[in-house]
Amino acid sequence: MPRKAGASRLERYVAKRDFTQTPEPRGKKPSAKNGHRFVVQRHRASHLHYDLRLEMDGVLASWAVPKGPTLDPAVKRMAIQVDDHGMAHNEYEGDTVIIWDRGTYEQGGRVAWPEALERGHAVFVLHGEKLRGGFALQRTRPGAKPQWLLIKRKDDEARPGTDIVAERPKSVASGRTLEELS
Ligand code: MN
Repeated sequence: MPRKAGASRLERYVAKRDFTQTPEPRGKKPSAKNGHRFVVQRHRASHLHYDLRLEMDGVLASWAVPKGPTLDPAVKRMAIQVDDHGMAHNEYEGDTVIIWDRGTYEQGGRVAWPEALERGHAVFVLHGEKLRGGFALQRTRPGAKPQWLLIKRKDDEARPGTDIVAERPKSVASGRTLEELS
């Protein structure tokens, strides 16, 4: 199976990491220094999409989500994994990109990250301004451009029947919409 450069960087990290170490206890809130940042950017390229980026081990694991995330657990959003990005992308807002949401996330599940991503199923809790609560990423098609589904888990932060990307289009950094930047 062909692997892209970003995945092999993650694989090198996996190979080096000692998985015999005890992962963080489940359900325990990590201290600030153990929190990982995330960002969702609204990006107008050839097709409008959202970029979900999860900070891990000094890089941003990244997915392009054509329709953007949702808080509706009944809706599964396709997410195409792309190359890891450098940490500076967490801060980036420009002509074609706004920071649609950001915050921290907790790596969840029984399998330690990033092995969970390697296995194709990862659960996590977002503490963003718009996106909150549990989410899952489920890989549906491996390959050079792995396809995943991004799914809101059923919890107190779920908002059935809503579309958060339509309801709250503005940048959490500048208060502007993507359209206002053009
Ligand atoms: Mn993009």
